[in-house]
Amino acid sequence: MSRRKIVAGNWKMNMTPTEAVALVNELKPLVVNDDVDVVFCVPAIDIIPAMEAAKGTNINIGAENMYFEEKGAYTGEISPAMLNDAGVKYVIIGHSERREYFAETDETVNKKVLKAFEHEITPIICCGESLTQREQGITIDWIRQQIKIAFLNVNADQAKKAVIAYEPIWAIGTGKVATTEQAQEVCAAIRVCIGELYDAATAEAIRIQYGGSVSGASAPELFAQPDIDGGLVGGASLKPDFGKIVNYNK
Ligand code: PEP
Repeated sequence: MSRRKIVAGNWKMNMTPTEAVALVNELKPLVVNDDVDVVFCVPAIDIIPAMEAAKGTNINIGAENMYFEEKGAYTGEISPAMLNDAGVKYVIIGHSERREYFAETDETVNKKVLKAFEHEITPIICCGESLTQREQGITIDWIRQQIKIAFLNVNADQAKKAVIAYEPIWAIGTGKVATTEQAQEVCAAIRVCIGELYDAATAEAIRIQYGGSVSGASAPELFAQPDIDGGLVGGASLKPDFGKIVNYNK
């Protein structure tokens, strides 16, 4: 079975609504590739204008975060129903920046993942080790633990539709790309872990991205690995280089 590639941009806290429309318009002719699902995960305030600008194209507009409650007194949060109403189909959950700066934990990640599935939004579930953890040789154990908690009470049908983004923290925004071997090794270990939690069919179906300083130059080799099904892209998603990443196979 061959998995369809998925390339998602993570705009982080960049682009005003006006700039978002301009960027979608600039990138839309560059990100056409029938072999790839293309997602722009944008700040909440940019979702509606970006969605309008992307109408009629292959671009999916996603969110960068979502809360795990339905509604109520959670000042500043965005609910799954709000994302549903806006037509959002993908949401990044548990990015390492959210874990570091906004105290997200494996447990809150799990709650958000469950809530996203309840609302038929595909979670892009982030995991990754720090440089210290890599140097201590505990990368695989750490990632397996993150995955096991993120998928608690997620059923196999849901897990098959999930996207996991393996993002070594030391490679995010640093220009340091993990070597192809490092990225493939961890993505393969994640697939083994999913196979243990569920079954072979789920492990075969789930899509696993690599993220961390991906560029048009590094994408072809990374995405050619057997267990890497695309990328989660920060810095380069704001530039024309994103088109090269999406068209890694052309
Ligand atoms: C990210 O933010 O998920 C990311 C991978 O960023 P960058 O591509 O800039 O390293």
